[in-house]
Amino acid sequence: MTGRRLAQLGKIPVSELESVSPRKAAGLKEMEIETVLDLLTHYPRRIVDRTNQTEIAALSEGEEGVVTATVTRSSARRLKNRRTMAEIVVRDDSGTLVCTFFNQGWRAKQFEEGQTVTVFGKLSMYRGKRQMANPGVDLVGEQTGRIVPIYPQSGKASISSVEISRFAKNALDRAKDFADPLNERFKKELGLVSRTEAFQQVHDPEAPDAWHTARRRLAFDELLRLQFKLISRRRVEAAAANGIAHKSEGRLLEQYLDRLPFTLTADQQRAIREITTDLAAPQPMNRLLQGDVGAGKTVVALAALLVGVEGGYQGAFMVPTEVLAEQHFLSSHSLLEGLMVEDLKRLGGERSLMVDLLTNRTTAPERARILAELADGDLDIVIGTHALISEGVDFAHLGVVVVDEQHRFGVEQRAALREKASLDPDLLVMTATPIPRTAAMTVYGDLEHTTLDELPAGRSPIETRWLSSSRQEAMAWKRVREEVAAGHQAYVVCPLVGVGGGENEEMPEDPDADIELDDDADDTDDTRDGTLQRRLLAAGDLETERRPPKSAVEERSRLVRGPLEGLRVGLLHGQMPAREKEPVMSQFRAGEIDVLVSTTVVEVGVDVANATVMVIEDADRFGIAQLHQLRGRVGRAKLVSWCYLLTEGEITEPAEKRLQAMVRTQNGFELAEEDLSLRGGGTLFGARQKGKSDLKLANLKHHRDLVIEARRVATEIVDGPELRGSYETLRDEVAVFVSEEEAAFLFRS
Ligand code: ADP
Ligand code: MG
Repeated sequence: MTGRRLAQLGKIPVSELESVSPRKAAGLKEMEIETVLDLLTHYPRRIVDRTNQTEIAALSEGEEGVVTATVTRSSARRLKNRRTMAEIVVRDDSGTLVCTFFNQGWRAKQFEEGQTVTVFGKLSMYRGKRQMANPGVDLVGEQTGRIVPIYPQSGKASISSVEISRFAKNALDRAKDFADPLNERFKKELGLVSRTEAFQQVHDPEAPDAWHTARRRLAFDELLRLQFKLISRRRVEAAAANGIAHKSEGRLLEQYLDRLPFTLTADQQRAIREITTDLAAPQPMNRLLQGDVGAGKTVVALAALLVGVEGGYQGAFMVPTEVLAEQHFLSSHSLLEGLMVEDLKRLGGERSLMVDLLTNRTTAPERARILAELADGDLDIVIGTHALISEGVDFAHLGVVVVDEQHRFGVEQRAALREKASLDPDLLVMTATPIPRTAAMTVYGDLEHTTLDELPAGRSPIETRWLSSSRQEAMAWKRVREEVAAGHQAYVVCPLVGVGGGENEEMPEDPDADIELDDDADDTDDTRDGTLQRRLLAAGDLETERRPPKSAVEERSRLVRGPLEGLRVGLLHGQMPAREKEPVMSQFRAGEIDVLVSTTVVEVGVDVANATVMVIEDADRFGIAQLHQLRGRVGRAKLVSWCYLLTEGEITEPAEKRLQAMVRTQNGFELAEEDLSLRGGGTLFGARQKGKSDLKLANLKHHRDLVIEARRVATEIVDGPELRGSYETLRDEVAVFVSEEEAAFLFRS
């Protein structure tokens, strides 16, 4: 492999470039650009195509355009509504243009009289003057050339975009040729340019097309490094693991499947096949089972546990909440009842399969008995919460671990459970939080995937309605009354537990909070047409007027005195002590409560097939994934079900889109895609440090195809001895780019 390795460039300080003076090097350092590699991966956020420019006077009203002009005046003032307005007046040979910016007072200070800027935006006329609202404005100085790159943070640290461009070109001249982990075949298959070409064109593009092509290649490299890291780490773990090759003739599994009151879907059958193959292999299984709410994952999980049990091992089923553990215990009980296993303590005898429940609510004597049975190997399957990984819990021979709703567990907890065994048990992770496939590939890159796409037959669709006024709301309560009269049950979910401070722990995270914004204050890309700005202003306005969200406690008292008078209405929320929660849940299961008013504690896994109405109050306060989970609590049997999304007053534009999507489709993966489009990939990596992240150009939203390809190519490179050169190039640069922290984050999710 010839050419410069990126890792080498990561060792050369920028000050070695003749164009970078010590003073400029200090400025660059402030921008976290210390090495030639930092410089070359500081990409222009935009390019200005001067060949496409017009003159101010040539633009007509409503038309978009780019002009280069000179600043003649720059000022800011306060408006009556306490917002600021900055105004920058620019002029070219043909005329004058007023640029206005709302709530961006700093703009006035950004520009000085006499500076050359490019302005792009949509022309409007205001009192006979040419104007652009919130246009993109960039300092371009006296730069020549057709295509001008605009770098982020230019102007700060007294380093201009023009200077960065000059430094980058200098670095490119010096570096010349870059080592490329992609051979000719890969490049051809993927339609990507060489890395040398990509770095050249990203900093010094010949044409806008070439710039975009270059960015695509560099984005691919980012994803490739990430996948390479994930896959090679998995190979290392697999090699070091002390796994179990489960031996099972499938008799127990067969007994179990024969007794199921339904036939498995084709997806469930495939999932069970994949899992039994994994279990039989000597390496520990690491599999993610994705499936929409109600897709029947639990049935598959129990099958996995039984394969382990037949081979003489114990199984653990860990879930995030007590309510869910009890739920699973009850439903497994009916599915596993009457199964017989070989009694290893007696020659040739059989005994019943032993299943038990362990949570923090288990009484001390019960707990002591269960722990003893686990340690002796008398208990085959234990279902429980975090209590399973607490001190004193020891298994005789733990062989298979199932973790449900894994996003609530960290890797540490998974690891803790694994440590309860002398051998590395097989692991099945289940999630119903729909994640788009490409995102899953990145976030859960260390796991194999199985997906249950198909819902069991005979499910009726859930009629979903969005009701946006108190008048319409009556419809929901009428439906609740009708369904209760028909012998069915209903849920009412509120965002809050009670009123007042300190009680808001269950408040869903603000789903609008992570609508993707650019990290650069002076980034103008997204504000170009002002929609984002308007949206933000609108959201800001709402904030002050927005009434506090509904609380379960208060809503329950309102409902029993009003719309749901005479019905048996229960209350459930996370802050109730466990001894109060359980009776409510069992009364609801037993049909002794008609309507359960709750917080999102019912989100995960509560399975009451007789419930047919879900009313979600202040639905705009919930994210798509949460709404989808909540809706999944109904429609669990053949009964026709309804979901009402209630909102009051004005809601934000993203919230409106979420609710429309919910009404439009019930498919979790479609909703996940929608969610990703609305929020961008950023949220998936929300906790990551943005500054030093390697994902600068790659975007899970725009580059779904590249994610899939990157995974394929990375697998080939890790596993293919003939690709040694690619392997070494990548291994080197991964060490520089993908920090341990970053990798740890990915493995933690
Ligand atoms: P998930 O955990 O994926 O949300 P569950 O495993 O809890 O779904 O299954 C939901 C309900 O559907 C359960 O009552 C279960 O018994 C039932 N079920 C599972 N698989 C099938 C099937 N193939 N046909 C009919 N009903 C099924
Ligand atoms: Mg489930």
